[in-house]
Amino acid sequence: MSKEETFDENIILKVDDLHTYFFTEDGVVKAVDGVTFDVQRGEVLGLVGESGSGKSVTAMSILRLIPQPPGKIISGDVLWKGKSILEVPESGMRSIRGNQIAVVFQDPLTSLNPVLTIEDQINEAIMLHQQVTKDEATEKTRTLLDLVGIPDAGKRLKDYPWQFSGGMRQRVMIALALSCNPDLLIADEPTTALDVTIQAQVLDLMRDLKNRFQTSIILITHDIGVIAEMCDRVAVMYAGNIVEIGDVVTIFKEPKHPYTKALLKSIPDANARRDDELYSIPGTIPNLINPPTGCRFHPRCSEAMPECSEIIPDTIELVPGHFVKCLLFTNQIKKK
Ligand code: SF4
Repeated sequence: MSKEETFDENIILKVDDLHTYFFTEDGVVKAVDGVTFDVQRGEVLGLVGESGSGKSVTAMSILRLIPQPPGKIISGDVLWKGKSILEVPESGMRSIRGNQIAVVFQDPLTSLNPVLTIEDQINEAIMLHQQVTKDEATEKTRTLLDLVGIPDAGKRLKDYPWQFSGGMRQRVMIALALSCNPDLLIADEPTTALDVTIQAQVLDLMRDLKNRFQTSIILITHDIGVIAEMCDRVAVMYAGNIVEIGDVVTIFKEPKHPYTKALLKSIPDANARRDDELYSIPGTIPNLINPPTGCRFHPRCSEAMPECSEIIPDTIELVPGHFVKCLLFTNQIKKK
């Protein structure tokens, strides 16, 4: 039986042993190196890790937006509603990107066209995918701007992106993303450039939209604090691998992977004294042209054992739905 025939229809997206590499003059960057996860209908999955861990490359691979060359999906698969997107022709991919999977990036100014009004940009997206007149599209655009909390939406239709504040631009981006009623929204660091109050408002908005429309969301962030507020499940990425995945409550209460524990330790504590130093994980994320042998986290791991520099850990399911890629757990299983 083929992979597609066995697909569970509650799983809207399945990323299966994905390897995406970049062929550069300095060598092959193994940016995503064997990533597997799925997204269920209506859930928010967080992808968290430091910059350079492969989160955005994973998202770009799902959308088939990896610049080729130098990038290439080397192996693995991405199944969208049970069908491999790697086999979809580019015209079909454009339709999936516009109609079914939408993206919101960190900096809306790079995604919005500076010389078109907001009305023109959202209208264009609506009219590209739906059989509506210009007036109907404008009405839909106004409703969307209202929905995402732009005050006086009707009056702001003729404004240009630069006339909006950072938080409002991010709302416009979300309105644009929602204009096609997507089944999946990929939000890549959507609140990183915003101050804390606006960040909370944009997260509230996304949570509200998910509850209203049952849109699945992949939320990509380096900030594990954001994950706690938004996500049902979380996948922790390190140096091109997922090192731990499970439901948010379990991961926050009982993190197992030393990297997850370190990320959680680095969340600022609201009760900390002002002179308490904020914990930061020692060392830096490795060069993915020559990643460390064995477990890629071993040079930075406080629990590393001699074998960690030699053996690549398998991913073990500790309890249903909670997976970890660390020799501490492989060894425990072997000892039983
Ligand atoms: Fe640390 Fe070893 Fe586990 Fe890697 S395999 S996270 S180095 S204990």
